[in-house]
Amino acid sequence: MKSLDSHIESVLWTSDEITSRVSELATEISADLSHLSEPPVLVGVATGAFLFLADLARHVHLPVAVDIIRAESYGSGTESNGSPKISFDLKLDVTGRHVVLVEDIVDTGSTISRLIAHLESKGASSVSVCTFLDKPSRRKVHFKLLGNGKFYRGFECPDYFVVGYGMDFAELYRNLPYVGVLKPERYKCQSP
Ligand code: 5GP
Ligand code: MG
Ligand code: MG
Repeated sequence: MKSLDSHIESVLWTSDEITSRVSELATEISADLSHLSEPPVLVGVATGAFLFLADLARHVHLPVAVDIIRAESYGSGTESNGSPKISFDLKLDVTGRHVVLVEDIVDTGSTISRLIAHLESKGASSVSVCTFLDKPSRRKVHFKLLGNGKFYRGFECPDYFVVGYGMDFAELYRNLPYVGVLKPERYKCQSP
């Protein structure tokens, strides 16, 4: 097997850039949520947000609960099928709680919109979204945050299909510590 780095055409954000931006986001979120009487719930969207959730959570200096939800809209390709389904639900009761949805990337907006509606139906009092990357140029669904929720994003992403820092192509590359674009031949070839 070739090394992981040899599959990458270009790096968009290095590991050091990610570390410093994630810590800034955590500081901002901590300041914004310090007035709450009950600890907020950080909800990571599996699988793509697993590294971001772990890094963000350890820099938030408030008591928080942590949970995971899974929404699936992608096959193994690079285009969403547009109708995300919740295939693994929360363990915690979020009734009356402030939830921060922690996502890898908001692209068309359909996944985040579906998740906000789901949290509303579960009785969350407000929902913020903290996405590591945001691709506003690709937005199709204009979602509304719940209550006094805020939208946080790490970086604005150009219209490339990116991998790394949790994000996959065909379930590979999630373990890259940086974000990059694959060499074009990797999109055709699924063998390591
Ligand atoms: P949306 O529903 O906003 O179109 O897309 C949501 C999900 O699609 C993201 O949470 C992510 O899992 C996946 N996705 C969107 N753009 C990219 C991308 O550039 N790279 C990867 N690996 N996944 C993406
Ligand atoms: Mg995601
Ligand atoms: Mg994926």
